[in-house]
Amino acid sequence: MSTITADKSFDVQAIRSEFPILEREMRNKPMVFLDSAASSQKPDAVVKAMDYYYQQQHANVHRGVYQLSQEATDAYEKARHLVQGFINAPSEKEVLFVRGTTEGINLVASSYGRKFLEEGDEVIISAMEHHSNIVPWQLICEQTGAKLRVIPVTDEGELIMEEYEQMLNERTKIVAVVHVSNTLGTINPVERIIELAHAKDIPVLLDGAQAIPHLKIDVQALDVDFYTFSGHKMFGPTGIGILYGKEKWLNAMPPYQGGGEMIETVSFEKTTFNELPHKFEAGTPDIAGAVGLGAAVEYMEKIGHETIQKHEHELLVYGTEAMSKIPGIRIIGTAEEKASVISFLLDGAHPYDVGTILDQMGIAVRTGHHCTQPLMDRYGIPGTVRASFAVYNTKEDIDRLVEGVKRAAKMLG
Ligand code: PLP
Repeated sequence: MSTITADKSFDVQAIRSEFPILEREMRNKPMVFLDSAASSQKPDAVVKAMDYYYQQQHANVHRGVYQLSQEATDAYEKARHLVQGFINAPSEKEVLFVRGTTEGINLVASSYGRKFLEEGDEVIISAMEHHSNIVPWQLICEQTGAKLRVIPVTDEGELIMEEYEQMLNERTKIVAVVHVSNTLGTINPVERIIELAHAKDIPVLLDGAQAIPHLKIDVQALDVDFYTFSGHKMFGPTGIGILYGKEKWLNAMPPYQGGGEMIETVSFEKTTFNELPHKFEAGTPDIAGAVGLGAAVEYMEKIGHETIQKHEHELLVYGTEAMSKIPGIRIIGTAEEKASVISFLLDGAHPYDVGTILDQMGIAVRTGHHCTQPLMDRYGIPGTVRASFAVYNTKEDIDRLVEGVKRAAKMLG
């Protein structure tokens, strides 16, 4: 694992004080929340921004000449502007509000797929994809006659890049891979993945759901064609996310959904479509969600990516070391480059039973296949127990986890 030195001035208790939910008790014990990969908790700043929007600024966007509607539109578009800066997108036109990562991927699979995929074409994904980066591609492959190709993973949980390189050919029409695996924590070598695809003029979509809460994302430095993520995994609200797409692709793609807002003119004979980004934002959007996402962006920028990464890396190293010492434990996902996830199994114990014992101790972890069933098949396991951290977690949280897993091992082993 690479070494990143901890930031000594970082005050995790000050961070925690901004998340009132972390003070709750579960099963009569102080809660240890280790399921941020599923959904992170929300700081005061995000909740207050949404509250203010609903109490003081709400009206429908883009349509009203009156002041309140203009204020709502400004709040919505300000959020887009904040996200543009956050991921260093060249233009706000390339930043689309969607419901989340799932919708971002469905939008590209459906719209890019209908336009560019034909019988015999190939779509490359990987063996560590979340179902939301498998099923939309299967659906469009069924409709178009294209084929899915899958980059295999090693026992450690890294992509086999030689196989990927060999898979790229003139029939490959798009590569869609996860930036950070939600089950293994692996940070994939996305720069190289993009470089190899672009050498053959193939666009790349990255599923950034698990990368955005932890890593600094610069879509221009990556030169990625599509990047999508969910607000709720980066301290923002549920129901809102982002699809970044290069203008040249978004202009070439047909609309995903039809309705209000995405049109320029409509007649029964012919409809013409609005400009980007509105062409892909049919209907009344989640305005409050966008405002909350904007506040989450400001929140993360206030802490700083470097600080977030250093603290989380320290937790990962500390946790991995402590967990590895527990007799009968097997950590699933031991890639060289990892982010904020420890997935594991205990000898002879079902993940669900381990999760239930941890819950009795007030510790929230996720158990199961984590929406990556093909990856579970690859390792021949039914699922894992997954502890995932965010910037608000502490070494004491990890200590409680280790104590809980030891108890589970004793009870179930
Ligand atoms: N991709 C990855 C890697 C994920 O971890 C998740 C959610 O867990 C998703 C996609 C889907 O995200 P959402 O349910 O927010 O659309």
